Amino acid sequence: MARKRSILIVGGGTAGWLTAAYLARFLEIRDNPHLEITLLESPEIGIIGVGEGTFPTIRETLRYIGIDETRFMRATSATFKQGIRFNDWLHAPGADGRRHSYLHPFEAPYYTEGLGLVPYWLLMDAAARPPFAEAVTVQHRVAERRRAPKRPGEGEFTGPLNYAYHFDAARLARVLTEQAVALGVRHVTGLLEHAVLGPDGSIAHVVTREHGAMCADLYVDCSGFRAELIGRALGTPFRPVRDTLFTNRALACKIPYGRPDAPLESFTIAAAHEGGWTWDIGLEGARGIGCVYSGDHVSDDRAAELLEAYAGHPVEPKLIPFEAGYRERQWVKNCVAVGLSGGFLEPLESTGVVLIEAAVRMIAELFPHNGPADAPARRFNELITARFQNIAAFLKLHYCLSRREEPFWRDNADPASIPERLRELLDQWRYRPPGRFDFILDLESFAFFNYQYILYGMEFKTDLSPVRNEFPNVAEAERLFARIGKFGERAAQDLPSHRELIRQINAGA
Ligand code: FAD
Repeated sequence: MARKRSILIVGGGTAGWLTAAYLARFLEIRDNPHLEITLLESPEIGIIGVGEGTFPTIRETLRYIGIDETRFMRATSATFKQGIRFNDWLHAPGADGRRHSYLHPFEAPYYTEGLGLVPYWLLMDAAARPPFAEAVTVQHRVAERRRAPKRPGEGEFTGPLNYAYHFDAARLARVLTEQAVALGVRHVTGLLEHAVLGPDGSIAHVVTREHGAMCADLYVDCSGFRAELIGRALGTPFRPVRDTLFTNRALACKIPYGRPDAPLESFTIAAAHEGGWTWDIGLEGARGIGCVYSGDHVSDDRAAELLEAYAGHPVEPKLIPFEAGYRERQWVKNCVAVGLSGGFLEPLESTGVVLIEAAVRMIAELFPHNGPADAPARRFNELITARFQNIAAFLKLHYCLSRREEPFWRDNADPASIPERLRELLDQWRYRPPGRFDFILDLESFAFFNYQYILYGMEFKTDLSPVRNEFPNVAEAERLFARIGKFGERAAQDLPSHRELIRQINAGA
């Protein structure tokens, strides 16, 4: 009889449990006597417990692993996220009270066969036209008016407008645990003390304090920043991206609402400050806020002042240092890293969970059912490295277009800190908007229109004026812009308030 093969996941944070549940479903563990998945975690060490913002891909992931939306939302204090509003990124608040803000919504710009609206928006009088996101999608009006992306009972994980969630990360791990265990994952608590390598440099077994040696065919390192296997045991080099992304510290805390029915934003607010930015995430019962900053530009004390000024009252935040970067080889021999152990860039645009989802899908699809455990390593490493690099460039875009004067922002605008490919694309985008052939989809987490929202939100100029006559359908474009405005108004009236929908979802709990 064939030997039973096994996967050992080390770590029970978002990465560990998402990996466990996804692989259990994909590899049909419950019905498969030949394969088993064990997850080892140390409650003593605990999880990082931040990571409250997500990207719309999370809906498909949750659906796939069999968690229903209502259960998930009730259990994790979740709310709907329709995008991110960026305050003060273009310039600091003026002495005259002048502020700049723009929305990066999840809904793609309205598109019709034949007529792309973007060139027509670019050709409008810059002083008179509506903001880009408002012109091209109804979601701008809906989100700005704190409306929900759908009506009560309007389908699990679906709705007329694209959305993701804000959730409480500690509670998410609990929901995922329940689901993974239901899908057949064995849950073991204990502390991994060290790993023992075999003669070929692969992991022979790991030694735990409570259970002695544990052995598997494939080890998945989800041990967070400790990187117990991929880093400590296998010594895989870490590649910092500090030359491009400068933030390396965060202060995080939760603050209560003034009253239980306080209005609830349906986007993350990312407000720039002198040395980075603050996040503001509306969960069901509290707001999660945090200050992300560069320790080279701002001291911890100053960052705490900035966070308190944002909150409007004293707060007691937790300090989380991090180093922006990733391991170029995240699959080495019989070990693959997922989550913070593989790398982390920074909290902007919620790419932590996105990268976990991408890694897990690849592991599932490339799974070495047959042949050596590292057969997929080379392909996996190429793909995940490209994703990290491309996300780093997308995040840099948010910073490098700023006209803010503080040293942090001037350093960010220095061309030497901008990845070469992004510089090349920015040169091209002076003459045409981003398009889908700028990117290879399998290597990207963000689409060309995500770039459009950032570029035009930050008043980047794509100059089509010398070829204005090559865009003759002005009347048709104006009709479509008017329709988007009208539908947006109607949607904002018809959809329930975000707070009301969240109240209804939790009412049956
Ligand atoms: P962890 O949560 O740290 O889990 C590690 C696990 O390994 C724990 O269970 C721990 O007990 C276990 N472990 C470690 N060592 C051992 C050992 N020796 N023996 C046994 N068990 C062990 N992502 C987003 O998508 N959106 C966001 O808004 C976002 N915001 C962030 C803000 C900050 C400041 C930071 C730092 C990150 C943010 N992230 C965000 C990233 C996100 O938090 C992570 O991607 C996500 O939480 C996954 O973490 P993890 O599971 O890899 O690590």
